[in-house]
Amino acid sequence: MVERTPVLEVKDLKKHFPVKKGLLRRTVGQVYAVDGISFTVNEGETLGLVGESGCGKSTAGRAILRLIEPTSGVVKMQGQDIAGLSKKELRPFRKQAQIIFQDPFSSLNPRMTAGDIVGEPLLVHGVASKKERNAQVAALFDRVGLRPAQMANFPHQFSGGQRQRICIARALALGPKLIVGDEPVSALDVSIQAQVINLLQDLQRERKLSYLFISHNLAVVEHISHRIAVMYLGRIVEYATTKQIFTNGQHPYTEALLSAVPVPDPAIKRKKIVLQGDVPSPVNPPSGCHFHTRCPYAVARCKVETPLLREIAPGHHVSCHLR
Ligand code: SF4
Repeated sequence: MVERTPVLEVKDLKKHFPVKKGLLRRTVGQVYAVDGISFTVNEGETLGLVGESGCGKSTAGRAILRLIEPTSGVVKMQGQDIAGLSKKELRPFRKQAQIIFQDPFSSLNPRMTAGDIVGEPLLVHGVASKKERNAQVAALFDRVGLRPAQMANFPHQFSGGQRQRICIARALALGPKLIVGDEPVSALDVSIQAQVINLLQDLQRERKLSYLFISHNLAVVEHISHRIAVMYLGRIVEYATTKQIFTNGQHPYTEALLSAVPVPDPAIKRKKIVLQGDVPSPVNPPSGCHFHTRCPYAVARCKVETPLLREIAPGHHVSCHLR
């Protein structure tokens, strides 16, 4: 049973990057990478943030963790607004919120042993003595399915799946409440993906962890998420429970993403909707509904008026003039 205490609240979060040109590096425009997104992640819950590459989902994850500075908006962690906090004031927040990246190889220092990598957050935050640290790291290795004897090995001595387990152990070291997974299984073989997802789910149950699970793959997101937010060009276009998205997805973009998800039953044939063209540039996004240049149902109103994200059923929000 998922409890409804919000761990993370995001309100109207924006991240715009200036586009600079010429000798004087004048600002000539903005990249609207994240353009006013709002959602919550509750205790023990996984929110899937899904969309094509370039839709702003990874930027959103980094802005939430203040790895990059948001342009505006509110990010609350367990009720505390972290937007205006200084580096020093952010330290307690860093313990509560961690990130796992897509590529476990480049996110691990090749010159450090796996044990030192996992123990580093404990050292930085002054959490434990060397002896205590070693004991805690050994327990974390054991919990994520690695042998404590492997603590002395270097990242290149592990397989891709094992390296992602090291990243998970490192993320767990400080006992966080929230983990942002930025495409955490995309670089892994399918069979290994399932193992890592199962591990994440077991850890969630044990520790009441909350996940913001960022992925371009709706099938993976379905497996792990309680609710899903679908992003297109910096905005959330649909936000609902996983069941609502998969049985009654309403936004035309969600419809297109769903049509590409393989169905395990060969008797069921899904008509694949192929969207025309690529995601438009976030430097100069289309007016009105950002999706109108690719939407098969677009009408004149869609070009001039931005649809609001409206609640069409309890917990089911859609941003489309026709829904
Ligand atoms: Fe398509 Fe118009 Fe709905 Fe946008 S508002 S998704 S363009 S029908």
